[in-house]
Amino acid sequence: AGRIAGKVALVTGAASGLGDAIVRRFHEEGATVVLTDIDEANGTALANELGARTDFLQLDVTSEENWIAVFAAIASRHGRLDVLVNCAGITTYGSVEEVTLDAFRHEMDVDLVGPFLGCKHVVPLMRKTGGSVINISSMASIRAEHYLVAYNAAKAGVTHMTKSVALHYARAGYGMRCNSVHPGVIHTPILDKVLAQAEDPDALYAEWLALHPIGRIGKPEEVAALCLYLASDESAFATGAEFVLDGGSSL
Ligand code: NAD
Repeated sequence: AGRIAGKVALVTGAASGLGDAIVRRFHEEGATVVLTDIDEANGTALANELGARTDFLQLDVTSEENWIAVFAAIASRHGRLDVLVNCAGITTYGSVEEVTLDAFRHEMDVDLVGPFLGCKHVVPLMRKTGGSVINISSMASIRAEHYLVAYNAAKAGVTHMTKSVALHYARAGYGMRCNSVHPGVIHTPILDKVLAQAEDPDALYAEWLALHPIGRIGKPEEVAALCLYLASDESAFATGAEFVLDGGSSL
């Protein structure tokens, strides 16, 4: 414990799945964690369960006003922000013929515009102290996943935006880093939502298993452990990189 003691971290999508696991691990390792989500009930419940060194702030990642308000609250309460994890995300299931324009735009808004707004408005805070931005992308940005046209496109956008942010702020000399994380299939509630929309859930689950040469899908704690490394100063030389954690599925 204590690998990120004294750091202040903001996690989006903190109320569920990977965000929940990242919050727990960061808290265990000594950070002050600002949990954010559109889901106020589950976000507040997790903050209350963990107690000291946590806050919950409601944040819809598609709203620029929300982002500005959250960073203003962090500046006044903590005076600094060392880590931003853009984890909130949705999954729109369907081929290019099936996905409606509204659904495609919504996927872009949450999964790509959300991290864009986070990266954009975190700069004034990280300019002072340096910091680590961790964008949760997916193996879907490395190799297109079947029936996920909107998700594949949004995650590929996040991956390349990450490199653009990393390059600019490495050159600017602020000590602000930005990396992407590419999980394979991880057992979280998002998975159950995708299965619920599938024509043949059993066949889809079997397809996912077959994608992972290591013979199983991943655990949220395994993604949290990688994020801990990226949040800590041990990763100080890493920026603009794609951190793949996928049981070999992109091989
Ligand atoms: P999840 O559905 O369990 O959690 C997502 C969270 O995001 C929820 O708490 C939800 O309320 C929140 N959210 C949704 N829209 C939001 C918005 N507009 N503003 C703020 N919060 C919002 O999903 P998860 O599996 O934990 O996924 C987290 C991230 O990891 C996503 O970006 C996802 O694409 C990515 N990912 C997941 C997997 C996987 O297999 N689970 C694999 C690769 C990447």
